[in-house]
Amino acid sequence: MRDNTPVTLPAPLIDQHGRTKQKLRVSLTDRCQYRCTYCMPTTPTWIPQDLRLTAAERNRLITLMVQRGITHIRLTGGEPLIAPDLYPTLTHLQSLRAQGLTKVSLTTNGALLAQHAATLLAAGLDDVNVSLDTLNPERFLALSGGRGTVDEVLEGIAAAQAVGLAVKLNCVVLRDVNFGDMPDLTRWAMAQHLPLRLIEFMPLDDGEQWQKTRVVSEAELLTQLGAHWRITPQPRDKSPATTYLLDDAFPLGIISTITNPFCSNCNRLRLTADGQLFSCLFAQSGQDLRALLRAGNSDDSLTKAIARHVWNKARGFDHAFEAQYTV
Ligand code: SAM
Ligand code: SF4
Repeated sequence: MRDNTPVTLPAPLIDQHGRTKQKLRVSLTDRCQYRCTYCMPTTPTWIPQDLRLTAAERNRLITLMVQRGITHIRLTGGEPLIAPDLYPTLTHLQSLRAQGLTKVSLTTNGALLAQHAATLLAAGLDDVNVSLDTLNPERFLALSGGRGTVDEVLEGIAAAQAVGLAVKLNCVVLRDVNFGDMPDLTRWAMAQHLPLRLIEFMPLDDGEQWQKTRVVSEAELLTQLGAHWRITPQPRDKSPATTYLLDDAFPLGIISTITNPFCSNCNRLRLTADGQLFSCLFAQSGQDLRALLRAGNSDDSLTKAIARHVWNKARGFDHAFEAQYTV
């Protein structure tokens, strides 16, 4: 049903617990050439073409959210470097700088970064996060579902650094696969001057792979790395990561969504490739913005639906979920 009444809700996107939203993660595609075991099944079911947002639909939603205070957009996937809409989206995002957008980032598996680094920089990308879970070639291949090589990712990182694109590393830590590789990976990141964030394994898929016993807690990581470096915690900001300085110089972030949730500071929203808006990574259901777009709703009406969905965000992830997953 159309709702064309003017927007009367307050300008910033704010939830009922007083948290304003500044960051939007936009999935340009659900597809990926890797099959990281912690992220996707071996044979994923892709979203059908007609249910994916078009570039024009996505750009319209992004614009509305920037007009309501989103200042930082992160393009992600699936793998954003295989998304046909990547460069048209970057062009559109540049036009939103005048409306308050201050930062455009991208998260990639790095496989195609070597060929895209220069064009991404020219298209106005501010920085790139590259996922790198291990430097060990066999374990990298296994983690990528037999599809990626550590060398192609290292080439991508080197190319991004060479053109002057700011790079950070993300690593998902699994107890039974790459936990033991963390000192080597950290040492390498330090030598390359690449900030590193270690991410706790989260139950984001259908629970095929996730088990409590595979999650490595922040405390365990600190104990492991503390045997190699002096570790000093830094004051917490709105980032989901807790930052530590290793030997007073190297910034290491740890994102411990499961053992140390950052919900009280959450300033993020997520738009999926099929147009669902989520106000929490773990929310079971989102707001179907694609349906509202295709029903012909006005900008005011869409903005209202977005604001209402954000307003209703729960304080943390829900209790049933918490009881199931607390480690
Ligand atoms: N394909 C790109 C990549 O791998 O960087 C972007 C999409 S990927 C879904 C975004 C980030 O989510 C990556 O850093 C990835 O390692 C992380 N990720 C995926 N599944 C995860 C899980 N179950 N727990 C924690 N992080 C996960
Ligand atoms: Fe693809 Fe990224 Fe998921 Fe790996 S983590 S399967 S690279 S989307």
